Amino acid sequence: MGRVVILLGAPGAGKGTQAAQLSKNLGLAHISTGDLFRENLKNNTPLGDQAREFMNSGRLVPDALVIEMLFDRVSKPDCEVGYLLDGFPRTIPQAAALEEALGTDADVVALSIEIRDAAIIERATGRLLCRGCTAIYHRTFSPPAQAGVCGECGGELFQREDDQEEVVAKRLNVYHAETAPLVEYYSDRDLLVGVNGEQAPDQVTEALLAGLSASCAADDRGSN
Ligand code: ADP
Ligand code: ADP
Ligand code: ZN
Repeated sequence: MGRVVILLGAPGAGKGTQAAQLSKNLGLAHISTGDLFRENLKNNTPLGDQAREFMNSGRLVPDALVIEMLFDRVSKPDCEVGYLLDGFPRTIPQAAALEEALGTDADVVALSIEIRDAAIIERATGRLLCRGCTAIYHRTFSPPAQAGVCGECGGELFQREDDQEEVVAKRLNVYHAETAPLVEYYSDRDLLVGVNGEQAPDQVTEALLAGLSASCAADDRGSN
């Protein structure tokens, strides 16, 4: 097992946007548990039916379901050299399950995209996703060239059911209660790199790549 890069951050912090860039740059498969669930919802699979209520009300899907889905996905050949996690882990039990599964083989880094709560609502409520691919847009911050149409694949853009203001507020509470403790979890293990998420997307990408290189250099020094 190679490299496992974890993206941490509140809903709307820019994890999906950055994961698309980092995945290209690092040559790692982009694994988004939110995208995997939305695919299951769309196809009305049994897993989608189990996850729907939790997602639409802004709650987390139970750990057992998420963990099973994630391990199934990362067992595929494209993850053999490592992978980039977007939206997982989101709870301490999920992080512990990942840590146990990886053992000491993998080179793990957690990148935390930092953003104030005040900036979250505007980001999430303006978000648009493509039905055809997983491209991410924003009504004002990153609008498509043609209204309602994906510039990557021509697909139709839509607003996520859980990106309405009340549900975003609920997700933010859940984030603080269940996911924010992961920052300390990875910091305790010396695996955390924090980056300011309130800059232009390209600048955030640069900062994340710089943070990754610095953490690799520190690893190399540590192993000498
Ligand atoms: P965001 O982009 O706002 O961070 P995601 O697309 O990652 O949201 O996730 C959407 C929803 O899918 C979450 O609110 C939650 O209901 C469910 N979900 C995704 N990943 C997880 C996870 N690791 N644990 C529990 N629920 C998850
Ligand atoms: P997450 O996956 O963390 O929920 P997304 O990557 O989906 O976040 O981004 C949430 C919304 O904010 C999207 O509409 C996206 O276009 C927009 N966005 C992402 N990064 C930035 C940024 N650096 N500045 C302004 N808007 C951004
Ligand atoms: Zn598209």
